Amino acid sequence: MVDKEKKLVSLQTEKKAEWKRILEKSIVNVGELPKVCQSDAEDIKKVSRLYPMCINSYYFSLIKNKDDPIYKQCVPSIQELQDELLEDPLAEEQTSPVPCIVHRYPDRVLFTISNKCAMYCRFCTRKRKVGTERRIITKEEIVQGILYIASHPEIRDVILSGGDPLMLEDSELEWILERLRQIRHLEIIRIGTRVPCTLPQRVTKELCDMLKKYHPIYVNTHFNHPREITEHSRRACNMLADAGIPLGNQSVLLKGVNDAPRTMKRLVQKLLSMRVKPYYIYQADMVRGTNHFRTKLEAGIKIIKAIRGWTSGMAVPHFVIDAPNGGGKIPILPEYFVKYEDGKVFLKNYRDDDYVYVEP
Ligand SMILES: *Cc1c(COP(=O)(O)O)cnc(C)c1O
Ligand code: SF4
Repeated sequence: MVDKEKKLVSLQTEKKAEWKRILEKSIVNVGELPKVCQSDAEDIKKVSRLYPMCINSYYFSLIKNKDDPIYKQCVPSIQELQDELLEDPLAEEQTSPVPCIVHRYPDRVLFTISNKCAMYCRFCTRKRKVGTERRIITKEEIVQGILYIASHPEIRDVILSGGDPLMLEDSELEWILERLRQIRHLEIIRIGTRVPCTLPQRVTKELCDMLKKYHPIYVNTHFNHPREITEHSRRACNMLADAGIPLGNQSVLLKGVNDAPRTMKRLVQKLLSMRVKPYYIYQADMVRGTNHFRTKLEAGIKIIKAIRGWTSGMAVPHFVIDAPNGGGKIPILPEYFVKYEDGKVFLKNYRDDDYVYVEP
């Protein structure tokens, strides 16, 4: 290669890898945190030995103050070592026929293809395995997962999950998508990723051009707070939507982060403005190390009541509890249906006014 060409190629790869440069600038050691955090240095060190800290420079730049809603999601707290909850309350390991597959529902499976994330969320349900050397996913296991799906004709929907599937290289992800698309009974592929929120630079034209070859593809992302929506995340979501990918959002209800109805209402409205449909709000799972984030059920019900009827119906997510022991997601609704009596249906509307519907 002549020098000029070499230079061009390196310029291109440099440009392509902006997200990698941001990841390389992740904060993993206490010493790299700003001065205001140093008073907690010993605690943070202790926690991150068990549950690693890794905050990329983009997500870190969203923090305005110590203990703000962004800070709480990414900086370790000593409270992570102070509860006695189970590591795997959803019994994912027990409904796992092969290492990377969770098969809990009749017609769809979760396929964990990465144990890395762009940032490690302190409240993560899979805290037991993401971001640690304890659980590296091998190519053999991925092949095993693909074979499992191929040999189960009842599976029509696969959810690529992790960790974060978009932490793979485009070519690695394409390798998996290509093989999945050869499975005739597989109708849809979903990708669960927090990248549009935590590392929107990962969404490149190359990625979108690759993904759209494997339609129907759906992406469910994960924003928890309106302040996570920036110019960058808007750009990422717009690119994915322009590639024909319907976008949904799954939030986790977190104490002190997004448990105020006003915050959640703003979040769902802003999500719609970037073509992301709010899909689920999860009651926080009973996972070891996350107890301090859990809210009472009432908080979620209040949120739904504050959204339904008061803003676009498109903005209303399902509030669900992922039942302990692998029972699956169970929707929790405010009581709009009051009772049923002599062919009459007694109802309450979003303003708590009473109505009666008479059956035919
Ligand atoms: C959440 C989940 C799904 C998908 O559920 P939907 O309600 O279809 O979005 C599938 N499998 C497992 C194990 C899950 O936890
Ligand atoms: S991005 Fe998802 S899987 Fe990764 S740490 Fe956050 S919640 Fe867990």
